[in-house]
Amino acid sequence: MKTQVRSWMAGLSPYVPGRPVSTEPGRLASNESPFPASSGVSDAAVAALAGINRYPDPLATALRERLGERLAVDPDQILVGNGSDELIFLLVMAYAAGGGGVVIADPPYRVDEVVAQSLGARVERVPLAGWTHDLGAMAAVHADLYFVCNPHNPTGTTVSREAVATLVDEARAGLVVVDEAYVDFADDPAAITALPLAVAGEAVVVRTFSKLYGLAGLRIGYLVGPAGVVEDLRRVRLPFSVNALAQAAAEAALKDNERTEEVRRTIVARRAHISSMFTSRGYATVPSQANFVLVLCRDEDALVAGLLQRGISVRPGSSLGMPGSARISVPSAEGLALLERALDEIGPEDQG
Ligand SMILES: *Cc1c(COP(=O)(O)O)cnc(C)c1O
Repeated sequence: MKTQVRSWMAGLSPYVPGRPVSTEPGRLASNESPFPASSGVSDAAVAALAGINRYPDPLATALRERLGERLAVDPDQILVGNGSDELIFLLVMAYAAGGGGVVIADPPYRVDEVVAQSLGARVERVPLAGWTHDLGAMAAVHADLYFVCNPHNPTGTTVSREAVATLVDEARAGLVVVDEAYVDFADDPAAITALPLAVAGEAVVVRTFSKLYGLAGLRIGYLVGPAGVVEDLRRVRLPFSVNALAQAAAEAALKDNERTEEVRRTIVARRAHISSMFTSRGYATVPSQANFVLVLCRDEDALVAGLLQRGISVRPGSSLGMPGSARISVPSAEGLALLERALDEIGPEDQG
């Protein structure tokens, strides 16, 4: 063929997933839930199989109604997507593709960067300050979209709701998008969530069922924001992107409040455990409010390879724009024991 990719795609490198490992408990590279879906959730997905000769509800009406009740927001301010990644894609497509401006942190959530580049947006990177978003510096950039990840991936750090509100004020000409994939794992989600701003139609909040709810494999997330934004995105989205099994499972997951709370508490406790596992061995860690910990190490390659040899896959910091570190997802109980054994064998961090 003579057809070539558009000029803005030249030099783009694809998203690199975590390295596969042979052990299930050692999969600590993608911040997935270590807990399988509850029986209520898998039963709902299985029941939905009976109807797969029909297209799914394009607007996920039942799920939006449930979310609307829970979040006290009009369902017309909610859009459900094929993972929050699709919603990020749609936001960039609608508001920044082909020469618009996108501001992201450096290092960013990689998907924000990849999507903006692949849709021909101008990307402005604003370095983190003390591991957190420098919202003042971000506000000073003139852009169409301002991406804030709160808690941030890959650092696990947070910014306050007041700080996000200030960014919204200062960046009036643009739309602030707050990615809250990990907000449930924060010590005080209510203190950081930008949901009140989204409900008031002043910003967009993007959330996912992939992390706390453990539905990463089904691909479902949602955004809350101004009704006008939801309308705009409906015009560019593919109508049937969110399949019927995912919709049914997400609805069931929202009913599982007790189990969800138990999963949340367990993950938060294990997060502290893995931090101390590393700090007691001479590593530094970035204080995390997410379901992973960024570990700082003198020899990233050696740590990543040493863990991989012992059946544990973690995300090398250099693949996340943070060389000299490794991002480690909170594991299952079995994974925690595997990690502890591996660290004992690898030995403490050389203090040089
Ligand atoms: C994991 C993650 C998501 C979730 O993406 P899905 O497409 O919903 O699976 C979104 N944002 C960030 C920052 C993440 O780390």
